[in-house]
Amino acid sequence: MADRMNAIIEQAEKDLLHTYNRYQIVLDRGEGVCLYDVSGKRYLDFAAGIAVFALGYHYKDYDEALKAQIDKLLHTSNLFYNEPAADAAALLKKASGMDRVFFTNSGAEAVEGALKAAVKYAYTHDGRTDHEIIAMEHSFHGRTYGALSVTGNAHYREPFGSMPGTVRFAQFNDLDSVKALVNDRTCAVILEAVQGEGGLVPATQQFLEGVRALCDEKGILLILDEVQCGMGRTGYMYAWQKYGVKPDIMATAKGLGCGVPVGAFLMTEEVAKDSLVPGDHGTTYGGNPFACAAVRKVLELFEENDIPGHVREITPYFEAALDRLAEKYDCILERRGSGLMQGLVFDRPVGGLIKEAMSRGLITISAGANVLRLVPPLVIEKENIDEMAGILDESIAALFK
Ligand SMILES: *Cc1c(COP(=O)(O)O)cnc(C)c1O
Repeated sequence: MADRMNAIIEQAEKDLLHTYNRYQIVLDRGEGVCLYDVSGKRYLDFAAGIAVFALGYHYKDYDEALKAQIDKLLHTSNLFYNEPAADAAALLKKASGMDRVFFTNSGAEAVEGALKAAVKYAYTHDGRTDHEIIAMEHSFHGRTYGALSVTGNAHYREPFGSMPGTVRFAQFNDLDSVKALVNDRTCAVILEAVQGEGGLVPATQQFLEGVRALCDEKGILLILDEVQCGMGRTGYMYAWQKYGVKPDIMATAKGLGCGVPVGAFLMTEEVAKDSLVPGDHGTTYGGNPFACAAVRKVLELFEENDIPGHVREITPYFEAALDRLAEKYDCILERRGSGLMQGLVFDRPVGGLIKEAMSRGLITISAGANVLRLVPPLVIEKENIDEMAGILDESIAALFK
């Protein structure tokens, strides 16, 4: 079996572009909150495909909805209407409190659309073509050029030369640093309510309220990237609902399809009426019947099972388990995050720890070199948290003590 695993890895490395340093595991199937590799080894999954599998693996109703749609129609293009897209849009509007939806295939594309919508809105109002956007240091918005242009990680941007538009970077949670960058060309501020890749850093209430007030005062649009912190992860459908600070434009993806690649950007009617019109934006696959059948079922299941409520209920138990580890080990500097989106900040790189935990049957990921990121399926129970904490405890003891 190890031979089969190695053979698959060897073949993949020959053919795939080498853009990832992958863990040396070939995953084969999932069940509930666990994954199994091709040798049959079980892993408790606290990564969920990077905050994607909110409902876990093989949620019966979800699988059946997808199978039913496969038997009907996979794709139509956006030249026609389809019922799953109409239903998914209505449900997503209800879940988000926004007014208009555009479906994409990924988070980066949702951010691309959000940026275009903001710039077009400003253009409609003042006719200028030199608008600027304010983004945050340590943010992450995706790997396409537009999304990359607002990603606050110079290392990701540098090799790719000039970026579209003018983007200025402020310090997250520092309102004065945002104010200092505003000028008469500023059309939007984009940020994550909880920074994911940047190390699980929640916005402070004061900061988010301050940015909203600043945007209102200056006629600037607020774009919230809810690709990672949205879809129930913080105990609210969208993290901004926890803060009571509503964006003008919002991006969502990851948990939205629970495994089917789909994203969306949404906006208020106020923005929509002066923003993208026919000819401004499009996609071949975005919002196709298959992806939208997934979104429709995911949103139905979120509501039927009150997934955000479950997250709110189980979060204190999760936080307490992580706090106990942080107290026990000096190498853990801090726990931070929101809901089922938590990070343990170490005083050293966590790459070795992740591998050690994996060998003991726990999948975790990192967010930056020193932060262990825990983004489990939202349906986890206390026993899963106990098992996670036990394996992490053993792994830290084995490696760092
Ligand atoms: C993952 C992520 C993206 C990009 O999503 P993709 O589907 O990988 O393109 C954008 N923003 C945030 C906050 C993310 O976490």
